Amino acid sequence: MTLTILKIALDVPLDCLFDYLDGGFTVTIGGRVVVPFGRRKLVGIVVDRIDSSEIATDKLKAILHAFTDEPALDHESFALLRFCADYYQYPYGQALLAALPTRLRQIEPVVLRKQFAYSLTPSGLLAGLEAIPARQAVKRRLFSALLENIDVDEAALAALSSTWRKAIQAMQEAGWINAKQVLAPPRIQAQVPSVKPDLNPDQAQALHAILAQVDVFKPWLLHGITGSGKTEVYMRLILSALTNNESQVLVLVPEINLTPQLIARFRSRLPDFQLALLHSNLGHSERLLNWRLAQSGQARIVIGTRLAVFTPLPKLRLIIVDEEHDSSYKQQDGMRYHARDIALMRAKRRNIPIVLGSATPALETWNNATTHKYGLLTLNNRAVAKAMLPNIRCINTALGQTYEGLSSTLLEALRDRLARGEQSLLFINRRGYAPVLLCSACHWMAPCPRCSSRLVVHLRQRQLRCHHCGHEEKIPQQCPSCGNADLHPTGHGTQRLEQTLAALLPQARILRVDRDSTRRKHALSDMLTDIYAGKVDILIGTQMLAKGHDFPNLTLVGVIDTDSALFSPDFRTSEHLFAQLMQVAGRAGRADKAGEVLIQTAHPDHALFNALRTQDYVAYSDELLHERKICQFPPFAYLALLRAEANDFNQVQRFLQQAADSARLITQNVMVYDPTRPHMQRLKNMERGQLLMQANSRQSLQILLRNLVPELRGCNSAAKVRWSVDVDPLEF
Ligand code: ADP
Ligand code: ZN
Ligand code: ZN
Repeated sequence: MTLTILKIALDVPLDCLFDYLDGGFTVTIGGRVVVPFGRRKLVGIVVDRIDSSEIATDKLKAILHAFTDEPALDHESFALLRFCADYYQYPYGQALLAALPTRLRQIEPVVLRKQFAYSLTPSGLLAGLEAIPARQAVKRRLFSALLENIDVDEAALAALSSTWRKAIQAMQEAGWINAKQVLAPPRIQAQVPSVKPDLNPDQAQALHAILAQVDVFKPWLLHGITGSGKTEVYMRLILSALTNNESQVLVLVPEINLTPQLIARFRSRLPDFQLALLHSNLGHSERLLNWRLAQSGQARIVIGTRLAVFTPLPKLRLIIVDEEHDSSYKQQDGMRYHARDIALMRAKRRNIPIVLGSATPALETWNNATTHKYGLLTLNNRAVAKAMLPNIRCINTALGQTYEGLSSTLLEALRDRLARGEQSLLFINRRGYAPVLLCSACHWMAPCPRCSSRLVVHLRQRQLRCHHCGHEEKIPQQCPSCGNADLHPTGHGTQRLEQTLAALLPQARILRVDRDSTRRKHALSDMLTDIYAGKVDILIGTQMLAKGHDFPNLTLVGVIDTDSALFSPDFRTSEHLFAQLMQVAGRAGRADKAGEVLIQTAHPDHALFNALRTQDYVAYSDELLHERKICQFPPFAYLALLRAEANDFNQVQRFLQQAADSARLITQNVMVYDPTRPHMQRLKNMERGQLLMQANSRQSLQILLRNLVPELRGCNSAAKVRWSVDVDPLEF
């Protein structure tokens, strides 16, 4: 009798599959099972069926259970994740399990709650919003939503309040609200006009070029500034791809760009197609529901952040990666994949087109476009006829005085906007009150006890906080080093700027948007609503506001201080700063009002600002690429970083040195540097070190890692440190 032995992937840090007997259960490839593992029970995925195992049959255990729901993964997912696991040096089983929504990784059977949609009854309509007292804010908010829309689903209500269920129930009992069960998944109500503009010549050309080659693998770079109409091109492409019934489209967007406006825009322009959303802010059930819709082929459009790149999509015909340069596409722990790169690999395997869109493409991408590996399509102007490019100027802070970090030119410009009833945005990438607490006598600066960083002053809470590890302490009364009571918050953060402006421009309505002010659920969407409604004159914001939002009445952007980034040792800083400033500048003057961007800097002649003033991405990136070529940095070299940390730095040093020695023995085709310490030497009480490996070809680097990593897994000094490999690292 031949036995059926199953090869099962488990979420354990060993780079192998595990053999189990099928135990008489009916199993499918890609299906989920429960297996005994040591003393635990684990959920696994059946990857293969075989006749014989290297392990003696009487030693094999049988699976405990086989789930009967749809298989979780298909052959294409296996192949893609196998490739990723190999490329990023991560255990295959863990890669497979990590690709599943949390619910499918749990042992408990999955029950999806029935979904309901709600509408006002005639008596609810008759009662009206006035019937709800002003202090019942949640009820009023929900009721308003129901006044504007029929069949509002649970997700939309949940987005309005976390206590929506109770409030809805009360109103149901009052006879104001009807519930009906819906089979369709959550749908947010679209409130964006569905006008379809005629394409301008650049857009038309881009669209035609892509449509001319839809049945082959072809990467395209769609290069165009914010507002040049890239999204419009995406939607036309999607529409065209979806006219074929057997098709799905995957749209990847950065973390922060998955805004309700974007989703509403897709929904209103492509209302006939089922849409699934996949991002990390969904509840577990919601995520599963959307994932199942995508995986079953029902959802025709799948919009998601980096994690969505692994979703099984049986009918995938087109991939779009918006803002392809965005660093949120890179996963920074576990399997450190880059979703844009995986998307490219996926398109290649499926032989379909992929469109990468950006105003400031990653230099890797730009290099591929200019060397004709990718097709290059350029949108040269802003799409709305009247919308002008903003006028960008530097204010030399080395010459003029600043008051509390504000130059008089910028202050005048703010006054001017205020008088005209237009909005301004001040961009400052530092939250808190001040980045340093300084003793005027001995120059002591409050350090984080757990990290090699300074504590940030949060004046309102009278606290010092570490933005790296979360450590908090009270602001000391006197200097712990010399006893002096004269401690100064030094430098500027969002809170300090807010306070300064409130004093200088008392008539202005000021809103600060940063991680601290948006911590409360819905805080950000409430703030955005206020901004759109014109209830705000001056916005103070970190990078949260730099992307994705389109404020038509915003005509001035002030950039407070980015000089520290100009001279960073990280070779990617210039590229990222340029992209960030282009993006912030893109906030100014989007509709029919001209925008102005004022950048405060002590180095106005820096090449970065010259390029920014003329918005000349091409010239600047060619210059950066030239530098990278001379220095042999990516994309002209391939990097991998071995990171390690431990309580005791000696152990880190020993491990990294051993790794370096091994690597040098394995190959001479890869430059193996000596171990170094990262900029952040200590984080959360762990001493850190790293080892950089650099090669002229991806392949030599891969060969080295393939041999080195298994060796590291087995070596003694590895047991004493926490280590990881980052292939194509973005941060050093
Ligand atoms: P991007 O994605 O490059 O930022 P969008 O596609 O969002 O640009 O376009 C910016 C604005 O211009 C949007 O309001 C959009 O509706 C409008 N728009 C896009 N293409 C056209 C066009 N051909 N004619 C008129 N308006 C357009
Ligand atoms: Zn002191
Ligand atoms: Zn810290």
